[in-house]
Amino acid sequence: MKEVVAGVDIGGTNTVFGLVDRTGNVISQGTLKTVDYPEINNFVSSLVTAIHNLVKKKDDLELIGIGIGAPNANYHRGTIEFAPNLAWKGIVPLAELIRKKIDVPVILTNDAKAAAMGEMIFGGAKNMKNFIVLTLGTGLGSGIVINGEVVYGHTGFAGELGHTTVIQGGRDCGCGRQGCYETYASASGLVRTALYMLSEMREDSMLRDIPPSELTAKKITEAAGKNDQIAMEALDYTAENIALGIANAIAFSSPEAIFLFGGLAQAGEILFEPVRSYVDQKVFPIFKGTVKILPSGVSESNAAVLGAAALVWNEMIK
Ligand SMILES: [Zn+2]
Repeated sequence: MKEVVAGVDIGGTNTVFGLVDRTGNVISQGTLKTVDYPEINNFVSSLVTAIHNLVKKKDDLELIGIGIGAPNANYHRGTIEFAPNLAWKGIVPLAELIRKKIDVPVILTNDAKAAAMGEMIFGGAKNMKNFIVLTLGTGLGSGIVINGEVVYGHTGFAGELGHTTVIQGGRDCGCGRQGCYETYASASGLVRTALYMLSEMREDSMLRDIPPSELTAKKITEAAGKNDQIAMEALDYTAENIALGIANAIAFSSPEAIFLFGGLAQAGEILFEPVRSYVDQKVFPIFKGTVKILPSGVSESNAAVLGAAALVWNEMIK
């Protein structure tokens, strides 16, 4: 029998799941439309059945656990708590509901912490004990690993760097506060910066041909690659803010590396190069030159499933 773990990534629209072996091969995968299941018990039934079917389709597979990445997931309690983008309200005891149907360990955490675990077990942090993964998407998620352990804290929700304040009284954040790191250092933060600069600056820009509602981080980084001045300045300001948050994170956890992951990180060197130089300027001097800023070592297409599966493989290795 070959042991496999089911990695499950629950998003607001889709749930992706797959069977992952010990070396990080995704053996098979499937999807469910999360939005089709306003009732959690129906979701759990369909998910468990779908995982069973994947296991049965191949000979000689043994399911040894289920790892789940989900918004507002609580690792300590195995719950999803007050997730704004999911239909299931209040506190959902997801691990318990799944274990009633299938008798294997079920481990939950949020997607950024799962990404950190994926990086540690299958990606670029295999031999590292101290590192941080920043996911630069619509928001900014973070998974912080110190002394070989993902930091969960007292509540299970530790590591919300996206909601540390970088500018007092700054941009409004979806969390109800102002000036949060993610309102500047994310794909949507870059779009906000570019829109502001387009309204304040007079320079020609190829971004002016794009309707504001269709402006994306990808279009801005592409324009920056073609030396569009406003796009370059917007990207530079974003890189400076990413670096400010990194410099703060370095001061409290002294990581060996920071991995940048997610949509905005796809920009590549045009983003990494200024981030590295701003980190060098801003970091507390004792840490200068001690931290590598790297792209994720896990491929974007499989990352969510691998990260979720890594939660269980990590427990097995322990
Ligand atoms: Zn916030």
